[in-house]
Amino acid sequence: MGKKFEKEKIVQILLVVVVVLLGLFGYGFYRYYNLSKDFSETKTILIETQKTLVETKDEVSYLLDNLNKEQDKNKTFEDQIGQIANTVGTLDKLSKTDKELLQKYSKVYFLNENYVPNGLSDIPKEYLLQKERTLKIHSKVLPYLEEMIKAMRENQTPIEIVSAYRSFGEQSSLKNNYNVVYGAGANTFSADQGYSEHQLGTALDLTTENLGANFTDFGDTKAYQWLLENAYKYGFILSYPEGNDYYQFEPWHFRFVGKSLAKRLHEEKQFFYDLSQRNIDAYLINIFD
Ligand SMILES: [Zn+2]
Repeated sequence: MGKKFEKEKIVQILLVVVVVLLGLFGYGFYRYYNLSKDFSETKTILIETQKTLVETKDEVSYLLDNLNKEQDKNKTFEDQIGQIANTVGTLDKLSKTDKELLQKYSKVYFLNENYVPNGLSDIPKEYLLQKERTLKIHSKVLPYLEEMIKAMRENQTPIEIVSAYRSFGEQSSLKNNYNVVYGAGANTFSADQGYSEHQLGTALDLTTENLGANFTDFGDTKAYQWLLENAYKYGFILSYPEGNDYYQFEPWHFRFVGKSLAKRLHEEKQFFYDLSQRNIDAYLINIFD
């Protein structure tokens, strides 16, 4: 009997053990199943989050692109406005600058007799040969002239001014006077080609204290030599140089054409009247710079 009892007890214990093991196994399986479910859900969420991130990134870069494009557009627009403003400024400057100021005049091409410069200023008396006279010059040229005269004084080669602005009427009576004194021969020096240039208010006839009114010899003076080498720095040129093809040599007659054109002529050893009018006109915008 005792043996049978023991056998039953063992079976019972084994059964209990099996039941416990089954329970444990089931629980483990349940946990494992849930965990992997959780894991795959998490994985799905992660993938979706990643997708959303990629989409957001695309959207942001699209917005940035648009922003850049808009900025570029604004920049282009600003540039265009700047260009238009420049053009307007240039046109405005040109409209206020008489094209006559850089015109080539000849025995056959005169300045209109009604032409009067925009502004005329008195030249300081101390610069004049005849202090009792009043000589006028284009107002915008006066500062350049004063600067040049000061430089000449510092160089011990001072000049005096014989003639500057002459109106059409003044020039006509001057020519008549010369005609009375010299007859038809007056044409060779008085009805000078610089006639129109004097009416512009930008031309000057120069002399020295020694020469006085006898300025036809101005070409022999040190002052003349200085002018040949330096006048361009102040915007002045010799209108009718020695050996030119269009008019007699007038060493005393200088004309203001602006610093940039005068510099070009000096550097290229050219005469104003040798350049084409088209080339000269390009300097009109900067004549008073
Ligand atoms: Zn002259």
